[in-house]
Amino acid sequence: MKRPSFKTEAFVLRFLNYGESDRIITFFTRGFGKLRGIAKGARRSRKRFPNAIEPFSHSILLFSRRGEGGLSIIENCDVINHYPGIRSDLEKTMTASYMIDLADHFTAEGKKSAGIFQLLGDFLGLLETGNSLEETTRFFELRLLRLSGYEPVLGKCVICNTPLDKIGSAFFDATRGGIRCSLCGRGDQECIPVSAGTLKTLLLGKQTETDRIHRLVLSENALKESRVIFRHFIRHILGKEPKSLQVLDEIRKMICPETAKPQSYQGSGVGDRGSVLIPHT
Ligand SMILES: [Zn+2]
Repeated sequence: MKRPSFKTEAFVLRFLNYGESDRIITFFTRGFGKLRGIAKGARRSRKRFPNAIEPFSHSILLFSRRGEGGLSIIENCDVINHYPGIRSDLEKTMTASYMIDLADHFTAEGKKSAGIFQLLGDFLGLLETGNSLEETTRFFELRLLRLSGYEPVLGKCVICNTPLDKIGSAFFDATRGGIRCSLCGRGDQECIPVSAGTLKTLLLGKQTETDRIHRLVLSENALKESRVIFRHFIRHILGKEPKSLQVLDEIRKMICPETAKPQSYQGSGVGDRGSVLIPHT
């Protein structure tokens, strides 16, 4: 009996070579969520599988399978966007790899998410056409967490509900998934201090339309604080640090060693404004 075939848009999350000429590829698809498939002869046939099966490529995928789950047979893969602008820039490539790696970690096989599919398309598009700003990575993380059901509470204390407007300085508590006010967080070694300015910027970035995100520039202090709390929170949720993040750190150090970003919290930065919005000119 012939297997039914399906067509859907997909991003390549990762692949591994199998046997002499095959590849097992993990995709995140618009119509079927994450799926794994074998592309027979992929390493030989550039016609059926052009550069559509490289990490983060956006393609139209034709596959067949019997029932749900298990390994699909990849019949064809036509590239929509290979992202040449990202691939010609080392830091952008590593940032895109991190985004794809995170999406892989936060999605389960067979679970469809139109929101996460759209997020990948939007943010890879931002990287392709704009600068590789660290802000882009932070807002990607924040939106991915929200779409995966792990949105951190940044607008009020998770213990006493005091709103951020009334909190001068706060502490991030990964276990409770949000901030604590100075009274509720003081003295807890597990909590990370974070300024109200940084939190306000992150809340702003959560709502800003994707095509306006490049206008939102975080101060050095807000970048440093948000980098530390997201890294800590994501590691807490996943129980490990994504490998691509470690590679990204190394690349940043190589590209710009004098400004390589510290990964642990240094100084309070309380009172920092957190961000500036660059007006359109
Ligand atoms: Zn509180």
